[in-house]
This record gives sequence, C-alpha cells and structure tokens, in this order.
Amino acid sequence: MSLFKNKKVVGLTSALVLASMLVGCGGTTPSTSTEDTENKKPQEQVLETDVVVIGAGGAGLASALEVTNAGKEAIILEKMPVVGGNTLRATGGLNAAETSVQSELGIEDSKEKFYEDTMKGGHDKNIPELVNTLTQNAADAVEWLIDLGGDFTNVGRLGGASNDRAHRPEGGDPVGPEVVSTLRTALEDKGMEVMTNTTATEILSEDGVVTGVVAEDEEGNELTISADAVIISTGGFGANSEMQVEYNSELEGFGTTNHPGATGDGIKMALELGSGLTQIKEIQTHPTTLPNDGYMITEAVRGNGALLINRDGERFIDEIETRDVVSEAILSQENGTAFLFFNQEIADSLGAIDGYIKRGLTVEGETIEELAETLEIPAEKIAETVEKYNGFVAAGEDTDFNRGDMPRSIEGGKYYAIEVTPSVHHTMGGLTINTDAQVLTEDGEAIEGLFAAGEVVGGVHGGNRLGGNALSDIVVFGRIAGQNAAK
Ligand code: ADP
Repeated sequence: MSLFKNKKVVGLTSALVLASMLVGCGGTTPSTSTEDTENKKPQEQVLETDVVVIGAGGAGLASALEVTNAGKEAIILEKMPVVGGNTLRATGGLNAAETSVQSELGIEDSKEKFYEDTMKGGHDKNIPELVNTLTQNAADAVEWLIDLGGDFTNVGRLGGASNDRAHRPEGGDPVGPEVVSTLRTALEDKGMEVMTNTTATEILSEDGVVTGVVAEDEEGNELTISADAVIISTGGFGANSEMQVEYNSELEGFGTTNHPGATGDGIKMALELGSGLTQIKEIQTHPTTLPNDGYMITEAVRGNGALLINRDGERFIDEIETRDVVSEAILSQENGTAFLFFNQEIADSLGAIDGYIKRGLTVEGETIEELAETLEIPAEKIAETVEKYNGFVAAGEDTDFNRGDMPRSIEGGKYYAIEVTPSVHHTMGGLTINTDAQVLTEDGEAIEGLFAAGEVVGGVHGGNRLGGNALSDIVVFGRIAGQNAAK
C-alpha cells in the first residue's frame, strides 16, 4: 500500500498534511497521486504531529495510547504489514505484584519480592532504578489494561519467580495477543490506527533536539514527519543474526524465536544521534524452542508442572530455573536437545498447550510405554523418573534438583512430549534510558525529545530476563515514554 493510498490509515484526526510534494510531478496535488503510484515514481509526503511512535508492538501501542490520553496527537509507524511485533508471540504472562487479581486469588506477593527476584534473575547486573520503576508500576499497568477491557484473570508462576505473579487470560491463554488487542482496540476507539508497511529510516534532529522522523513505505515513497518528540519502540535485534554475533560471538549459528521485524533499527537510528548503549552484549536464549524453526514453547508449560527429560529418560535440571541456566543445561545433553514431558492434567491447566497439541507439535502416548517407544527412550527410565518426581511433590522437596514450585504430580495419561532446544529470544541490552524513558547519550545527558521503551532499551533485565518481565517492561515503560513525550 502506498503512503498516499494509506493516508486515511494515518487516521489521526488532525495529523496535518503540511505539504504533499510529489517529486517529479511538478507539484501535482495529492489527489493525482494514484496516477503517480501507478507510474511507480517515488513520492514525498510531509506530515506534522506532536509525537511519532516508531514500532507498534506492546511498548509502542501503550505509549501511543498515553500520548492521546494526554490530549496530544501521535503517528504510529509500523514496518511490518501487521502490528504486534514480538509482543504478539509472548505467551507465559505479565509479571506484576500486589494486583487486585492476585488478592482475589489469595496470592500474597510484594513489590519488594518482585524487585529482588528480578535483580537476582538478572545476576544483579540490572540497573536498579529501572527495576524499581518496573516493579513499582507493574501492578498499575495490569489494572490499566483490565480497565481497558483486557482479561488477566489467570495467574501462574514462571522461572525465577518466588511467587505466582504471571498474569494472563482465563485458562492460561497466551498473554501477548491479549495485550496487543486490548491496546489496539483502545487506540481504535480513539480514532487512531497504525500506519503499517511503513519503516522509519532516520530520526531527525537540529542542534541536538529531535525534530521528527523520515520513513519509507514498501514502494519506496518517502514520508517526513515533523514532531516535538519521538518514541523508539522498535523492539530488539533477535532476528538480526549479524548484529547478535557482532555483540556476542557465542551466538553464531543459533536459531531465533523472533518475528522478522526484530532487526535492531531503533538502536541503529539512535546511535546516529549519539545515544549510549547499555549491556548490549546481554542476549537471552529461550531454553524451550523447536529445534527446526525456533518456535517457542512457553515457560508456563514447565511452570504448570512439566518436566525436562533427556534421552536417558532422566531429569537433569530444576525445570523452573532461570532461562540462562536451563538453556545451558539443555545444550549439554545429547544432541543439545531435551524433551518437555507432561500429562493431560498439565495440558488441561494451560490454554497454550492445547494450541501446541492442535498444531501437531507434541508427540503423544496413551501410556508412558507408548510415548517412550516413539521417543526411543527406555520406558522404565521415564516411569522411574515420574515416580521419583511424584515422591518429591508429595514430600514437598526435590532432593535431586531443588525445584521450588511443584504445582502437581504426574498421575495418569495421556502423556505428551515436545523436543526442545535453546534459541535467541530477547536482546536484553539496548539504548540507555533514565526512569523517565528519555534516551541518554554515553555521557548520561538526555537527548531532548527522544524517548525509548521496550526491548530496544538496555538495563532493565541485566544478565537474564525473567519470563513474564518483558510484558511488564513494555507496558510500564511504554506508558512512561508516552506520558513524558506528550509533555
Ligand atoms: P516491544 O516488545 O518492545 O514492544 P515488539 O517486537 O513487540 O517490541 O514491537 C516492535 C515493533 O517495532 C515491531 O512490530 C517491529 O516490526 C516494529 N519496527 C521495528 N523497526 C521498525 C522501523 N524501522 N520502523 C517501523 N517499525 C519498526
């Protein structure tokens, strides 16, 4: 779709078309642009707004909504044909402590514990002020989403958490689509739509102050938007293997769980303006992804009771340890893979698993013997492992691997397995920001008019992100970026 055909999609009641200069058409007015499009001549369009939001994942949608809540206008650019980015792929939950949902479920949690877990999970490399902002504001983010009509009534536990605080829709359905659709609907209710297929290529500035963005549609037409502030919410670089290897050579040859738009554009554009980078080498692998294509099997499967077994039918790690530890443990098994193993009761406890079964990602057996035969693992070894684990559940203590949370024993079929291996999942390093989501230079100076939120930012997750913290991160900091950019 060309920018001109897309003009309605800008959809912002008063995004002002300053001028529509049709290059090579001697100043033809926009109304004749169809002809030019047919002739495939590149065109230029100039718009003006208060805030440009680059990237329509969770962080971008949340920030755009806060811009409009503050009475300002925003234009949201999205390079892919669909909105949602990696957020749409998030499954496990949105971590928050002291929410109304937790209290209704009788879960006693605290923001302090949430802070401690996040710092510990990140090996204390996280920037404390950013973690404080995250953990203090996540509950409010959940209430905000609920007020917008989102369903976050199911609360479970993900790796590294000392409490049940991963909020997701009823039945444990995937959280990402719920966050995206809730925010998108709220934006549409305000008459705002995302300008899809439109890639920001440059952030403009004058005398160190941000003045706008240059973007391009898929037909090569150029759009210049002047604005008082720009929010970078372009996500990470988990789909850019060259960039990953540049920052961390150990990741050569790894697959990825990321959507194809996660190419690090925001980082590259901000570097041109002198932005600092924080912990850019910190790249997380997700331990349980499909070996052939990196498709992610949510951590909530283990959180709800699944085991990880190797080709000898044995457990080899506390399944709900942090992602870096579990990834390393799987890579050291034969073939560098392992099997997620669970039964029908666990499958029934999490909506996401039903999706995996329907998509044919599981190997099944009515009995352990039947499953073991398909997996080519001695059945008696698996049976032994299950019996021992059930003993740990009954005793309330895992004397082999010290697994803290064992929500249920594994009694009776059907039995399921999914072969898994780690893939690049989340780029934890990125642009340097302060707690107001302002982008900072290497010297710690705020770049006037420039904000960033979400996976494009570094320092929130330190050396290892806890499952469920990406969703809190994008909503909390997306909101802050939107509120401050609107000022
Ligand atoms: P986050 O979780 O931080 O919100 P996501 O991956 O969910 O990150 O969303 C980031 C979005 O930004 C994706 O939809 C991606 O396609 C989009 N994006 C990335 N680079 C650009 C760019 N140069 N111009 C416009 N959109 C971009």
